[in-house]
Amino acid sequence: MTLRAVKGMNDILPDEIGRWHALEAALRRSFELAGYREIRTPVVEPAELFVRSIGEATEIVEKQMFILKREEETLALRPEGTAGVARAYVASSLHGREAVSRFYYIGPMFRAERPQRGRYRQFWQAGVEIYGDPGPGCDAELIDMLVRLLEGLGVKNLRVLVNSLGGAATRARFREALGSYLRPYADKLSEHARKRLDDNPLRILDSKNPEDQAAVAAAPSILELLDADERTHFEGLTRALTALGTPFEVSPGLVRGLDYYTRTLFEIQTTGGEIGTQNALLGGGRYDGMIKELGGPEVPAIGFALGLERVLLALPAEPVAAPARVFVAPLGERAGIEALLVARDLRAAGIPTDADTRGGSLKSLLRRADGTGARLCLVLGDTELERGIVMLKDLKARTQIEVPRAELVARAEALLATEPGSPSA
Ligand code: AMP
Repeated sequence: MTLRAVKGMNDILPDEIGRWHALEAALRRSFELAGYREIRTPVVEPAELFVRSIGEATEIVEKQMFILKREEETLALRPEGTAGVARAYVASSLHGREAVSRFYYIGPMFRAERPQRGRYRQFWQAGVEIYGDPGPGCDAELIDMLVRLLEGLGVKNLRVLVNSLGGAATRARFREALGSYLRPYADKLSEHARKRLDDNPLRILDSKNPEDQAAVAAAPSILELLDADERTHFEGLTRALTALGTPFEVSPGLVRGLDYYTRTLFEIQTTGGEIGTQNALLGGGRYDGMIKELGGPEVPAIGFALGLERVLLALPAEPVAAPARVFVAPLGERAGIEALLVARDLRAAGIPTDADTRGGSLKSLLRRADGTGARLCLVLGDTELERGIVMLKDLKARTQIEVPRAELVARAEALLATEPGSPSA
């Protein structure tokens, strides 16, 4: 029986990896230019961490965590990155070292969701967390950076949604108001929404069910319940985004699947590429209460997480060209050792090189060289060894020259820098 990968968990094969590397490099570059430093936290955490930070009455904690029981411990594969970074921040007392910390991470997350295009059980997220800056300028800078980043990658038709969820007291008032508004419609709601009516009515705003959507269409807006401070913060954010020329829409119905958010909440969607119905590229917001909740001091925080698979779906599927390779083809045993030395020198100069170690006729070696997509093939036999030279074949330009062994690296570099077939090649 053939063994298959776990449902909703994908292999990323070498043919696809170029696009991943390019995306990861672009993300790292953007984050580092804006002062974020990478943090790597474990893929497994105590399940309790996610219950406390994400919230008990959320889909993720109720149904989607991959739980591992080991002796006395209940562990979970991380469903998102924020909780682990916050735990590390508190555990290592990073708040004592600097007033404002900016971290980024890239890594796999795990949620037992129903798999579909753009929704997997293992997926990759990149995200940042900023600790110690409470102001709306910080929120605006983050959203603006993300819009520029996605535009720079070539993602088309971006939609930036922003909302404010206020603080705990406002949220409690809104929960009351929304619950009272929706209760008379209870028999019109989906079964799932009816269940949420008492424990977490905000989640009904997020429902994809048409009956639920009809019921919440004229529901009260949380923006009307913000207190003076929260309103000033939200106005500060929208003013800054306007001044930066960052397009956005205020979306009072925006709620996200994690309970820890306070004040600013945002999501960036697209209709570009092959994205399909799972069109949220990234989501984020403030979570000013989490560090205290996890045993640290009161430190304001904001962050976001972007799904790498979704960004790749939204981008044109252009293959990323692999760098030109060199193939070293030795004829005979003595040349075999020399081929390994030649390959070592070429790699040390940064030239991607394969050395044949299987042996065979010149014809079969040249066929193998073609199979690797090599631009240059270096042929080395006993005659070449005795003369201290190497036969250098340009497989694309179909030319061949003899090169002294000592000049090999420089000549190969020069040839690789030219277009195949150009006069200088
Ligand atoms: P969240 O952590 O739920 O706020 O999601 C942030 C982003 O992560 C989303 O906008 C998606 O791009 C991505 N994402 C979340 N869940 C999944 C999933 N199951 N499969 C693929 N991407 C996901």
